[in-house]
Amino acid sequence: MGFFENVNQYFDQAAQFSDLSPGLLEQIKACNSVYRMRFPIKRDNGSIQVIEAYRVQHSHHRLPCKGGIRYSEMVDQDEVMALAALMTYKCALVEVPYGGGKGGVKINPRNFSENELERITRRYTFELVQKNFIGPYSDVPAPDYGTGEREMAWIANTYMVLKQNEPDSYACVTGKPLNLYGVPGRKAATGMGVFFGLRALVDVSEDMKALGLKAGLEGKEVIIQGLGNVGYNTGVFLQNAGAIITGICEFNGAIYNKKGFDIEKVFKEFRETGSLRKIEADKFIEDSSAGLEWPCDILIPAALENQITKENAPRISAKIIAEAANGPVTPDAEKILLSKGILIIPDLYLNAGGVTVSFFEWLRNLNHVAFGRMDKRQEAYQSNSILQLMQKMTGKKIDEKVFTDLTNGPDELDYINGALEETMTRSYHDIRSKSIKSKTSDLRTAAYLLAIERVSEYYTTAGIFP
Ligand code: GLU
Repeated sequence: MGFFENVNQYFDQAAQFSDLSPGLLEQIKACNSVYRMRFPIKRDNGSIQVIEAYRVQHSHHRLPCKGGIRYSEMVDQDEVMALAALMTYKCALVEVPYGGGKGGVKINPRNFSENELERITRRYTFELVQKNFIGPYSDVPAPDYGTGEREMAWIANTYMVLKQNEPDSYACVTGKPLNLYGVPGRKAATGMGVFFGLRALVDVSEDMKALGLKAGLEGKEVIIQGLGNVGYNTGVFLQNAGAIITGICEFNGAIYNKKGFDIEKVFKEFRETGSLRKIEADKFIEDSSAGLEWPCDILIPAALENQITKENAPRISAKIIAEAANGPVTPDAEKILLSKGILIIPDLYLNAGGVTVSFFEWLRNLNHVAFGRMDKRQEAYQSNSILQLMQKMTGKKIDEKVFTDLTNGPDELDYINGALEETMTRSYHDIRSKSIKSKTSDLRTAAYLLAIERVSEYYTTAGIFP
């Protein structure tokens, strides 16, 4: 079964809990526009290579469409459609007012030089501009697997050169570098969102008790698959909160250590040598997929889709699966995992931190002013007055560090991370409440149900254009 069909299967499962009409459900589920392109680029050796690429706009119920661009050899139309659909539900779930979109370029970036990648990215952007598949109010890409700030800078620059009279043109893409209209915190946002989501989950003691676990992240044993941007940042935040990273899986090997790893050290070594083999560990195995089966409290697939299938699901021994990647668990596998009592915290919620901070970046670009610029000083004055009053009333001096921190006022990163924390924590409790109220036996069904209902509100209020 294809990835898009998997997403639709999850959709149908949740739709059974709603009383929306079949026609409306069909409209919410359908993929609105698919742009499949082929374009030539010149390789450094002078030869010509034809590149296959896509941009999909799954839903236009809110505009712009939003979603990353993936560079991977596995890209095909089905994958991009599935990922675009997930974006629609993800945005609805965390109340980020966008339709879902996704892009994909079928290349392995490791096989191209930086100059070649720049030519591919600029040409891809040019194609999107020509067909109106990019723009601050129509469709706003972002990083995804295989892309990052560098690619987003090329996209922004190409768009701005082509649309010189649009004052908002740099809001055409998010995940840009800080010195090219990006915002602080975007790069770590998905990982930080995963952390906030997991924290919200493990803080509910009665749910943890049902799994035979204590509440809180402290001491939880964690295995992470994928040391990319999401996996690495998730690991850092969890480690700082007292979790123990006992296992790390990469494409060419997996390591296990009962006492835990220092994620920063492992990351550095992996970046430098491209391998986990030399890291001191209880175990190293070459077949990294077997690493997913090692016992742990929380297993975090943070790489690609289809990692846990009906084939390996019976051997998974984690208590919680945290889907930092999109689509890591297939519907068949999910049935097996749920029957084993494993709790799954689903992708459409858990990795929504990236698009949430993308939303803040887009808003900042349209506002043309940094978050906090208008209130930082006022907040600092207010804190100062309160602290002075407290000192006067109690006759005690407040700790100097606390005093300075509070009277400096928040900076832009504080505003962004605070809003991300609020979004992820609130959304978790929205899903949990939905699950209890609608008696869904799992969180994914509740998350889809909530997303479907939120998207449906648009159509039931605005109607369908004849
Ligand atoms: N590619 C990320 C995702 O799958 C981020 C999308 C965005 O920021 O628009 O959610």
